[in-house]
Amino acid sequence: MSAKPTGFLQEAPLLFEYPQTGREGVKLRTLEVPDVSPDQAMAGAALRDDGLEGLPQLSEFDVVRHFTRLSRANYSVDTGMYPLGSCTMKYNPRINEKAASLPGFNQVHPLMGDGLTQGHLEMAYRLEEWLREITGFAGVSLQPAAGAQGELAGVLMIRARLEDKGERRGYILVPDSAHGTNPASAALAGFAVAEVKSGPDGCIDLADLEAKMTTDVAGLMLTNPNTLGIFEKNILEIARVVHAKGGYVYCDGANMNAMVGKTRPADFGMDVLHLNLHKTFSTPHGGGGPGAGPVFCTEELSPYLPLPRVEKSPEGWRLNWKGEKSIGKLTTFYGNSLILLRAYSYMLAMGGDGLLEMTETAVLNANYLRHQLKDVLAVSLASPTLHEVVFSDLGLDLHGGITTLDLAKRLIDYGFHPPTVYFPLTVHGALMVEPTESEPREELDRFVEAVKAVLEEADRDPGLVKSAPHTAPRRRLDETLAARQPILTAPQKERHQPA
Ligand SMILES: *Cc1c(COP(=O)(O)O)cnc(C)c1O
Repeated sequence: MSAKPTGFLQEAPLLFEYPQTGREGVKLRTLEVPDVSPDQAMAGAALRDDGLEGLPQLSEFDVVRHFTRLSRANYSVDTGMYPLGSCTMKYNPRINEKAASLPGFNQVHPLMGDGLTQGHLEMAYRLEEWLREITGFAGVSLQPAAGAQGELAGVLMIRARLEDKGERRGYILVPDSAHGTNPASAALAGFAVAEVKSGPDGCIDLADLEAKMTTDVAGLMLTNPNTLGIFEKNILEIARVVHAKGGYVYCDGANMNAMVGKTRPADFGMDVLHLNLHKTFSTPHGGGGPGAGPVFCTEELSPYLPLPRVEKSPEGWRLNWKGEKSIGKLTTFYGNSLILLRAYSYMLAMGGDGLLEMTETAVLNANYLRHQLKDVLAVSLASPTLHEVVFSDLGLDLHGGITTLDLAKRLIDYGFHPPTVYFPLTVHGALMVEPTESEPREELDRFVEAVKAVLEEADRDPGLVKSAPHTAPRRRLDETLAARQPILTAPQKERHQPA
């Protein structure tokens, strides 16, 4: 690396690019027993360390600086507003972290057995009870480690139920506005996917649903509120159509932030649901997890829930590993336990009233942004929405020919994480903004001002906006190349070659 002024933040090279200094993090005492080489110690040639020469040689201080510099080149909800639609990037209250750092929780291991982990099991059990109250469902498993895994669990449960009834159905219906994980989960569970259209109001086209809902369809995967931030206005009729043909309705509840305390998916005819605790209940996410995507279901589908399950017995709480009809185990033990604890802590701190206020404020904030921006950006729907607002790129090119991507990238220079772009696919050049309830009004106003400032800049100097960001640690990347030809490993010569 050559020296160049960067303003407090030195560039962090890749770990593999550090010079081979011979430094190490830990110096061990001289051995008092005979030295044994790794070759002798490890069984089998596959484990030999021939390739270890290229590994980074760093002191503890080097490592701390490396990761601290990387973290400062990053953006997080602790830095500023993160209005990434559909992702619900809300503040993670520090009380959750405090709970998760209690040794009684973070130093237990499930193999210690139920007897020594009673507190933890009780927490999971109580969390299940609260979540069942919020969703209205009889059955729950906290096991899935992400929303997408909750979806997979739910679809596998539907398949198992149908097979139990002696039915093999080939299709799952998915609306055109669905999150990409929905068709992927259906396919992973062995179903072909057929698309249901939505109408100009953003809701499912009932006639199209009726035409496609045959006895070869296992069910419908419905996101509600959907990705446009709209509560399906014909939800009861949708459920009736699917049930009439012996199918099940899977509800993608990742947008529960718009419904908690207002309405319950079990009450409007849903059969299976997943929630994203890392969205609605404030546990940290991004960068791939860990998350928690609990799955919920009706009494009828409960026997198929994943194992193990937390149960209360006269002797206390225990993990039950038995269940003949269960779809089995999805991940280790009972899911991401400390993430579950953070969600529990959040709900405990908020209380029922607080959770209701959370929902109302999230919806209010989204509609405040909608109102403040509707004269400068084209809203995708005429009516107000729930927790997120989607703009289209209609008329955006009148500002010096800029695109949704240009606007999003220039917002980085104003200190904002870009909103979700080009999703949902049903809106041309979509810009999907979800401020969440966390943001105070001043921050929402700053965001509005930033959008307006970018549009004015584009009128004067479109090149400036089209080449943004200018002040971020990286300029605009070739995202297509990065996705198609990712370089994920050390340079070839340093790569570990198995013997
Ligand atoms: C985030 C999201 C998912 C996927 O959740 P993961 O935890 O990222 O797997 C699914 N559906 C919708 C609508 C979402 O917003």
